[in-house]
Amino acid sequence: MAGRSRVVVGGLPGVGKTTVLNGVVQKLVADSRSALLVVFGSVMLDEAKKMGVKDRDSIRLLPVKDQRELQISAARRISNIDADYVFIDTHFIIRTKEGLWPGLPLDILREINPTHIVLVEAPVYDIVKRREADRTRKRDWESEEEIQNEIEVSRQFMVVASAYTGAPMKIINNLDGRATDAMEELLYTLKGRV
Ligand code: ATP
Ligand code: AMP
Ligand code: MG
Repeated sequence: MAGRSRVVVGGLPGVGKTTVLNGVVQKLVADSRSALLVVFGSVMLDEAKKMGVKDRDSIRLLPVKDQRELQISAARRISNIDADYVFIDTHFIIRTKEGLWPGLPLDILREINPTHIVLVEAPVYDIVKRREADRTRKRDWESEEEIQNEIEVSRQFMVVASAYTGAPMKIINNLDGRATDAMEELLYTLKGRV
């Protein structure tokens, strides 16, 4: 049986997707719902390790043709995951050496078949600050202009994803120190469905 809600969540590196989604899944599970967080990059990393990739922040450094194969096989695996709520923690765009590359091209959207499309955003300055403070990851340094541009391109891919799948789209702001508000907003958005 397909999951009732398959929520694709994208946003720039360091915006707080995993933080917000962990909280949302915890809240749903505490409410006796079946909810799973699937980190697209972790599914890719499982396979990428066989190619010698050591950590998640090195995947985007591979040639795009290799990333594309990993992306396709990850989407296939994810499409088999079933729960009342499946949250897919991913990116609308990836910064590769060959340029910005779509995280959700049409075949991947078809495979995942989302019911909801969400873009997590935060002010540019906060994204910079979060990346600098988070020593667990190797995120790129980018100027505020580059980050602003990527937010705009992500919005464009969100619109394409919504138009292609027919799923509603929503921008959720993850303001500083207020991840709980972002969690509540996402849960509220999904209430229309249950
Ligand atoms: P990536 O795409 O690289 O995996 P992400 O979007 O999943 O990034 P997180 O790892 O969830 O981002 O968060 C990045 C950092 O920002 C973490 O150190 C996290 O604790 C912090 N953070 C997340 N949300 C907030 C918030 N609302 N206020 C302050 N700090 C936050
Ligand atoms: P994350 O933990 O969300 O930062 O994911 C780790 C890495 O996985 C990202 O930096 C990308 O290289 C890769 N990744 C995540 N989602 C996708 C996707 N939909 N398509 C291609 N690569 C992705
Ligand atoms: Mg994350």
